[in-house]
Amino acid sequence: MSIRQLSENVINQIAAGEVIERPASVVKELVENALDAGATRIEIATAGGGLTLLRVIDDGGGIAAEELPLAVSRHCTSKLSDDVHDIRSLGFRGEALPSIGSVSRLSLRSRQAGGDSGAEIVVEGGRVGPVKPVAANRGTTVEVRDLFYATPARLKFMKSERAETAAITDIVKRIALAFPAVRFTLTGTDRGTTDLAAVPEDGEGLLRRISQILGREFPENALPIEAEREGVRLSGYASIPSFTRGNALNQFAYVNGRPVRDKLIAGAIRGAYMDALPRDRHAVAALFLDVDPALVDVNVHPAKADVRFRDPGLVRGLIVGAIRQALEASGMRAATTGAAAMLEAFQNPAAGPAAGNGDGRSRFAAARSPEPWRMETSPSRPLEMAASSAGGFGAGEQAAFSVDGAVSADTRAAAGDAPAEALRQPLGAARAQVHENYIVAQTEDALVIVDQHAAHERLVYEALKQAIHARPLPAQMLLMPEIVDLPEEDAERLGGHAAFLQRLGLGLERFGPGAVAVRETPSMLGEVDVPKLVRDLADEIAEHDTAETLKERIDHIAATMACHGSVRSGRRLRPEEMNALLRQMEATPGSGTCNHGRPTYIELKLADIEKLFGRR
Ligand code: ADP
Ligand code: MG
Repeated sequence: MSIRQLSENVINQIAAGEVIERPASVVKELVENALDAGATRIEIATAGGGLTLLRVIDDGGGIAAEELPLAVSRHCTSKLSDDVHDIRSLGFRGEALPSIGSVSRLSLRSRQAGGDSGAEIVVEGGRVGPVKPVAANRGTTVEVRDLFYATPARLKFMKSERAETAAITDIVKRIALAFPAVRFTLTGTDRGTTDLAAVPEDGEGLLRRISQILGREFPENALPIEAEREGVRLSGYASIPSFTRGNALNQFAYVNGRPVRDKLIAGAIRGAYMDALPRDRHAVAALFLDVDPALVDVNVHPAKADVRFRDPGLVRGLIVGAIRQALEASGMRAATTGAAAMLEAFQNPAAGPAAGNGDGRSRFAAARSPEPWRMETSPSRPLEMAASSAGGFGAGEQAAFSVDGAVSADTRAAAGDAPAEALRQPLGAARAQVHENYIVAQTEDALVIVDQHAAHERLVYEALKQAIHARPLPAQMLLMPEIVDLPEEDAERLGGHAAFLQRLGLGLERFGPGAVAVRETPSMLGEVDVPKLVRDLADEIAEHDTAETLKERIDHIAATMACHGSVRSGRRLRPEEMNALLRQMEATPGSGTCNHGRPTYIELKLADIEKLFGRR
């Protein structure tokens, strides 16, 4: 067979295989083009999961009639000069439109700001038609019909229409979050309408755009993240541990304003919350990395969803460090959704189980109908009833809120030695223990309920971790050193981290080319599969330049021990003990949630309580 040059159309279809994976990739390319053209309004319409129709209308700079044929030709772009490493626009390859045109029926209609008429060009399965004059508004309208009709094999690989529709929504949200000043409208016969109003391009505007996308409760349950190291800047918001989702879809990451789906960033977020969340829960976050373009390669894949950092360890460390620091500094915040769900349950004791926070986990037994409402079992029964039935303080010792929210002299005495000062602390003065697990405390303007088991477990865990990492961990000598064979690069990387690993109790050294000898392992781990541990560590160091896995395994053991050593619910605490627990929680970073990410306390503002009683 002789060697031939591939036809232009075959080249375009091959490129389409890479750039255009599914309808959402087309949407991404078209929306990025609109943004590159300086649009302030972008309207996206879809039908049939984007396979039947995709339309993107923008009010950007437009394309001159005579340039329309260029726009749909391969490697023609108005955006890149000669330096591939200095990429400022979203697009730069000049291959999206020709690729799309080679596998669909594409029409491009545009009018430039100064131009007095519009023009249109149509491409069908790679055949480019003539430029025709048409009436058009300022800006550009791109219509893609029958995507992949020209490549039936690709069409077969499409997921359900619903999955494609959802993927389009996801990509539009990801892009829109980074461009708050642009109004995005997403409509279609296959979906409800999403309309994201333009907001100012300042910090407050960004937060508004974030809440348009991640939900109105997000800002109240998020911590600002801000950090910088060696020229890499990180900013954004990450949720407090009691505000989580069942998947990681609500984690939005950007590198130099470009949305990315990156394993390193996702792993760093997971690592940051490791202590705070159970394995099956995921934080919600919007993170923006600003990196010198010379230190990051966004050119890895044509779809440009992942990136390659020159120094991955630095980026991971920055993200993990900044989020952990924010979590620790916030320490004492429980999710407002907990309090909100509780208020709702209080407000509507006769409603069905749906009265909770919507996910069917309402914990309030009294909300079960049709059982008639009874004072004794109502969540809004007076505290004395709850306390005496649970054997807490006697009714005579109960504290009472006086009208102005202050506490009378005898109730102050009743709470043991709790000084008036305790009232000014975030968790206040303990007033009672109910159901042998919940500490009811009072601050100057709120009622606080603490889950004593969860709180204590967290305190023990933090103390253990501190103790563990304060000095080198005890190691257990192996009878015979275990030799683990590895690729030479891995052996070398492990050797480079030997000192850090030794502190964690893992003693190893290089053992000739392509092997390490392990002499001792962390005593806390007990029996370990040494080769597996060593290979996992080598993988991690290769990927992230850290050996966090080992530290994480050790912390996990600390968490398990903490769980066993904690005050069980059911233990009665004396007032001094309760107050001591509250003060210790205030002093301990991260104690606002238990080791499994559930809140350790709920705070109800007096103002809200008054509202419940119709006093406001
Ligand atoms: P790239 O975006 O990588 O340059 P594309 O194939 O996506 O490549 O687009 C080719 C060219 O067409 C762009 O460089 C730009 O000049 C022009 N273009 C495409 N879409 C638009 C639009 N919505 N508004 C103005 N110009 C556009
Ligand atoms: Mg483009």
